[in-house]
Order: sequence, then C-alpha cells, then structure tokens
Amino acid sequence: MKPIFQRAIPIIEKLEEAGYEAYFVGGAVRDLLIGREIADVDIATSATPIEMKAIFSKTVDVGIEHGTILILHKGEAYEVTTYRAESTYSDFRRPDEVRFIRHLKEDLQRRDFTMNSIAMDKSGELIDPFAGRESIKNREIKTVGSSEERFNEDALRMMRALRFKSQLGFALEEGTYYALKKKAHLLQHVAVERKLVEFNKLLQGDYRVDALTLLQDSNLHRHLPMLSQKEKALSQLVTYPLQSLSLPEIWVLLLKVFQFSEHEAKLGLKGWKMSSKDMKEILNLYQWFQKRLSKPFQATTIYHSGLTVAVSAEKLHQVYNHERVEYPDHLVEMYNKLAITSRKQLAVNGNDIINWSQQSAGPWLKEWLAKIEEAIILGELQNNKEEIREWLFQWNQK
Ligand code: ATP
Ligand code: MG
Repeated sequence: MKPIFQRAIPIIEKLEEAGYEAYFVGGAVRDLLIGREIADVDIATSATPIEMKAIFSKTVDVGIEHGTILILHKGEAYEVTTYRAESTYSDFRRPDEVRFIRHLKEDLQRRDFTMNSIAMDKSGELIDPFAGRESIKNREIKTVGSSEERFNEDALRMMRALRFKSQLGFALEEGTYYALKKKAHLLQHVAVERKLVEFNKLLQGDYRVDALTLLQDSNLHRHLPMLSQKEKALSQLVTYPLQSLSLPEIWVLLLKVFQFSEHEAKLGLKGWKMSSKDMKEILNLYQWFQKRLSKPFQATTIYHSGLTVAVSAEKLHQVYNHERVEYPDHLVEMYNKLAITSRKQLAVNGNDIINWSQQSAGPWLKEWLAKIEEAIILGELQNNKEEIREWLFQWNQK
C-alpha cells in the first residue's frame, strides 16, 4: 500500500478497535486506481463526530453538521466523515437534513459519480457496489443511480462532472451527459462560491480545453457568472494554448477575450464572489497585460510591475498572439540590471530633500522622489546620496 494510505491506517485501526467501521473513500481511492498523484486521503466511518471525538484527542471541527471532523495524526490532518445519507432536497442544492447512518453502502450511494463511490479497507481490499472500477476502466464519468435525480438533488454535480472531465480527460457517460444537458438550468440555484471552487479546478485541469468546450455545448455556461451569452468569446478562448497558463493568467485571458474594460472586469469577478486578494491579483495582472499589448516591458515598467507580474504578462502576450510560449529570460535580465527594485532602496528619503530645499513638505516632494527614482532606474543617476544631491542642485539651477 502507498505510504500516503499507510500513514493513515492507525486512524482506521483505532476506530475499528472501538467497534466502528472505517474506510478510505473518494478522490484518493479513485486516483490510486487511475494512477494519478494523490492529494489527500479521506476516510469514512460509522462513528459519529461525537463518538470520534471521544476516541481521538486531537481533532478540529470543520463541518460537524455534515459529519466531518479533522483528525490530527503525526503532523498530518485527515478528514474523517461519518457515513451519511442525504434526504429530501427541495431546492436543488443542499439536502434539507443530513442523516448519519451505520452502513457503508448507503454512504457510497449518496456520492456523485461511480468512480468516486469506491471504498478501500486498510488491507487494500476494494468495496465497489456501483461498479466504479468499471467506469475507471472505460474512462467514463457516470452518476451513481439516476442522473436526473442526482442532478435534481444537487445541481453542483453537473459542474463537478465537467471539472473531472478537465482533470481526468474521461468522457461523460451518455445518459449522464443527456441528463446534464436537460438539467443545466438547475445550476442557477447553486451558490456562486461552490461553483467557483469547481470552475477554478476546471480551468486548471490538463483537459481544460475539452471541458470548456463541453461547458458551452451543454449550456452550463449560461448559469455561471460572466459567461452567459459569451459563446463567441468562449469559442475563441479554447483556441489559445491554455496549457501553459496559471490560474490567474487564465482569468486574465478570459477578461481579455471578453473585451472587458477594467471596470467591467472588476464587476465580472465580483459576480463570482472571488476573494478580494484573488481579485486584486487578477485585475493588476490584467492592467499590466494590457500595457504589454501596446508596448514591451522596459526598465521603468518592470520596476513598477515587479518581475513576477511582468513574466506573467509576457507569457499572456505570447499566448494571446499564438506565439510559442517561452520563459522570458530577457525580463529577468532586465530586472536584475535595475539599480533599485523598490523606493525603499533609494539612498535618500523625503526628509533629506526637505532639508536640502529648505521648503516645507507638500505635493512637490512626491513628484521629486518620483523623478529621482525614474532617473536611477534609467541609469541616468547613481543611487548615492551625494550624487542625488548634486543632481537636484543642478536641476534647480536650470
Ligand atoms: P479532489 O481530488 O479534487 O479532492 P474528490 O473526488 O476528493 O476530488 P471532493 O470535492 O474532495 O472531491 O469530495 C470528496 C468526495 O465526496 C467525492 O469523491 C465524492 O465521493 C463526494 N462528493 C463531493 N461532493 C459531492 C456532491 N456534490 N455530491 C455527491 N458526492 C459528493
Ligand atoms: Mg478530496
């Protein structure tokens, strides 16, 4: 058994010793069978959160109402979830109540896709009542049970189907896809935050181009912020070599193909309820990318953008122009040649200039600091107190 599972076996054993069942489930088992890298292992158990907390001393409550707690073991955190069934969905998004149950099979039955409904015991034996292995062999994404019902219960599963398409390259099983197209409109009832999690994963998968194409073919895009009625732009987006772009870079390309002004871009990202940190990063990169489209980076621009942003903007420029994507070494060189990389490194500060000029502080001071900064970046002036003083003196004489 792989070390990542092995390390978690003591948790399973402890639960079993206390008279409960516990199995590896979900993405980790799926990825093991596919041969993909395993991010983290999830465990399902017949013990309720209260019962688990009586057994383990180090736990963190992360979603007790859904039956999930974190168990800390040898420096790692494991998500352990009580077997549960989800009863009566009245609004297409969340079960009205979560019922803890004692049988594994019922827990596997409430899971979204057959490939995600396989359990594995501590010896590596698989429990696969919904033929998940068969789906993995056929490289297909297939709901557990009636697709229409499962999408009625939780419409987010349709987005999840496409993000798995993007990550695994599997095809959507015929009936699953038929139901997805039919039920696409239900996605409008799902919280934006949940859609964003899946959409971000979709944007980063190896098969993102296929998934984006399918997103549009299925009309799911109509029920996502920013993307409805953007058919032409979405078709354009998938013609670019997206593979080489990071998540923020893809968002920027998206804004560009939508021909958004900076204001529209901001509103668009707000519609996704993105965190302000992510939004800031994307909008900043969008600005620098637009500038790059009109003019190559130079000493002054790279000083203000910073190296990381400049490299991203350059990559985007290559992608947008369908050029070969190469790491822009010339920008690193340009950046390394800068005499200073931030204003903090200036050999003078506002006080020096006030003392020399014998004037009281005012808006003029900021202008002068900017001028000094620019002259140093352009190599016209050395970053040295005496030289700067001399330079200012000469300016004043003029
Ligand atoms: P990843 O590797 O991206 O974490 P994952 O399959 O583990 O993939 P999670 O979102 O972590 O995906 O969910 C863990 C498991 O919980 C899934 O494998 C699936 O069995 C179940 N699950 C998650 N979301 C849903 C849902 N909306 N409906 C039904 N089952 C779900
Ligand atoms: Mg997971």
